[in-house]
Amino acid sequence: MNNFTYLQAAQAKEATGAVRDGKGAAFIAGGTTLLDLMKLNVESHGQVVDINNLAFRGIEPTADGLRIGALERMSDVGEHALVVQQYPAVSQALLLAASPQIRNMASIGGNLLQRTRCGYFRDVAFPCNKREPGSGCPALDGENRGHAILGGSAACIATYPGDLAVALVALDAVLTLENPKGKQRRVPLVGFHLLPGTTPQRETVLEPGELIVAVTVPAAAHARKSTYLKVRDRASYAYALASAAVGLDVQGGQVRAARVALGGVGTKPWRSGAAEKILTGAPATEATFRAAAAAALREAQPREHNRFKVELIQNTLVRALTEVAGKA
Ligand code: SF4
Repeated sequence: MNNFTYLQAAQAKEATGAVRDGKGAAFIAGGTTLLDLMKLNVESHGQVVDINNLAFRGIEPTADGLRIGALERMSDVGEHALVVQQYPAVSQALLLAASPQIRNMASIGGNLLQRTRCGYFRDVAFPCNKREPGSGCPALDGENRGHAILGGSAACIATYPGDLAVALVALDAVLTLENPKGKQRRVPLVGFHLLPGTTPQRETVLEPGELIVAVTVPAAAHARKSTYLKVRDRASYAYALASAAVGLDVQGGQVRAARVALGGVGTKPWRSGAAEKILTGAPATEATFRAAAAAALREAQPREHNRFKVELIQNTLVRALTEVAGKA
């Protein structure tokens, strides 16, 4: 781990300016990802800029939904009554992630920015295009059991590891970002994370010094009837091998609105428009759910060790849809 200086920022402009101008400076909130990666020498920063004193707080209803400040902690959001009752997929995704200790520390903004668990990425003894562009990707023909089957490229097949972003992408969440000039912009979360393409080192649309201020989630019938189902190697403190966030509005046995996103299988939180198209207007039956799951995986490109994910994620999605339809 390299030596670094520490700055506690009192204002957003101070923080964003320091990171924009700081040649390798990084924001720190909970630190649960950043410090790990710095200890592994995967990331090195000359300065860390503590943003915990900024006013990016609050878990509150708005005129058309829910607003969550980016510095709220995972556990506080996951256990908040409004989130539990109106956005159950978001609550479940948060409470199924990590350990209680980490959930108490980790911020919502930082959670959305967590980096892949690809073992080659986290071990500097190996080349990795994401860590060192142009150095190669040993996962393509190496150990790729946990890697992505959707959205990969010849440069990188690393899986996006998070749970929360999958639930939020399904429910049409929008991020508010603030740049070093103090200007804010709103970005739909579905477009926030980037596919690896030829530049896997660029993971989001964030510009230098730009911060996540808040997340908003629209209220909807399908958000109230939503769930997050996570399948993993062990029952706690493990990343998803496959996960599904679904929201359904079912009336009279017909699906009026559907939202589907997949986790553990994509290079980014994977919203499936193909599945939603099949579900919308169709009878809420297992046959429909199976057809939607098949459509969601039509573009899958499994590799040697992760072929099992194609069936696993389809079964996960069908189970999640069945559970939600049963509550309608
Ligand atoms: Fe690096 Fe991506 Fe290849 Fe993993 S899959 S080794 S993160 S380039």
